[in-house]
Amino acid sequence: MTSEQGDRSPMTTESATTAFTHTHALPEGDVANESRQDSALNLASYAVSEANSRGRQFVEAPPQGRSEFQRDRDRIIHSGAFRRLEYKTQVFVNHEGDLFRTRLTHSIEVAQIARSIARRLHLNEDLVEAISLAHDLGHTPFGHAGQDALNGCMKEYGGFEHNLQSVRVVDVLERRYATFDGLNLCFETREGMLKHCSPDKAALLGELGERFLTNRRPSLEGQIANLADEIAYNNHDVDDGLRSGLITLEQLSDVPLVAEHLQAVQEAHPNLTGRRVVHETVRRMINTLVSDLIAQSASNIAAQRLVTLEDVRNAPALIAFSPALIARQRELKKFLHIHLYRHYRVVRMSAKAQRIIGELFGAFMADGRLLPTPFQPDVSQSEAGRARGVADYIAGMTDRYAIREHQRLFAVEEG
Ligand code: MG
Repeated sequence: MTSEQGDRSPMTTESATTAFTHTHALPEGDVANESRQDSALNLASYAVSEANSRGRQFVEAPPQGRSEFQRDRDRIIHSGAFRRLEYKTQVFVNHEGDLFRTRLTHSIEVAQIARSIARRLHLNEDLVEAISLAHDLGHTPFGHAGQDALNGCMKEYGGFEHNLQSVRVVDVLERRYATFDGLNLCFETREGMLKHCSPDKAALLGELGERFLTNRRPSLEGQIANLADEIAYNNHDVDDGLRSGLITLEQLSDVPLVAEHLQAVQEAHPNLTGRRVVHETVRRMINTLVSDLIAQSASNIAAQRLVTLEDVRNAPALIAFSPALIARQRELKKFLHIHLYRHYRVVRMSAKAQRIIGELFGAFMADGRLLPTPFQPDVSQSEAGRARGVADYIAGMTDRYAIREHQRLFAVEEG
């Protein structure tokens, strides 16, 4: 296997990382800055803060009137990859209906849930928001079917993993700033985005990959974003699944987590029908999961007697559901796997998606001249380097762009 590292230095070298050197002595009477001080006062000593941050890879002047983590969030929102999330999907492909979640609305829901949890636990809300909004930036078109297909195509060239790709987007692929590639986000934002990583990949990531090799945890903020993601998708897949008609409330009444809340809604509102029953049930489910996560995490944190952020990294994972809720969520996931993700209509779309991605990859690898000019490989590139470039191009596509690009390449009537 030929390695393409070296030409993408921000992913492989962390040595330039420097923590913020500026202090935040604020001018009196500055309203924006006062609110910054207030939120800083509410932070637990083990929360991520500007004071304990490992900072950005490239040193920059401090932001004015916003925190470093608010600046990260703002950079993410202004990125091209963030806008593309509007036309990328998880279960339902974009053209199937306007009301289904997209990766954009999913990311916003994750941010909302994560912020609620972070605030209650006195952790850094701005950081959890930034991580949540960025966590899916590296996703391929067509959800997990797309990821599996692209990973299969990249097998000989180091594989494709959406988590790593999210970091690659913010470290390398976004090119908006004059003096560096990527968004130059804070270490803790990138750390929170990298949920999983195999040891061989982690070894290439320097400081960012270290924790996977030394069995240490990310910040509590990173742990929150991870579980807020789970709360968001389990609940919106129930909602979207019902909307699509692929699953029914009757089927779901066999799943205890849903049944308990559905029954409470029906008892409280016997005449309620239709979508309102679904919304009332789902909002209660989200509320239960969020409250349970806060209570269990608060008690885990208290038991560890945490003082510093380093204590967090050395402790076991502390943001967690109670054992009872873990079991109930597992039953819901199992239901969704059997009845929604493996529904023949979803499987058909996944098969189409895999074909589209596989054929695009094959065509671009066979003849690099088919790629749009900015994506064309240069002659000096290794095969693995070319493959990585093709994977970057395909991963950046929205669902509909991939479908159109496939038509442009394979349909004879298209120009
Ligand atoms: Mg997600």
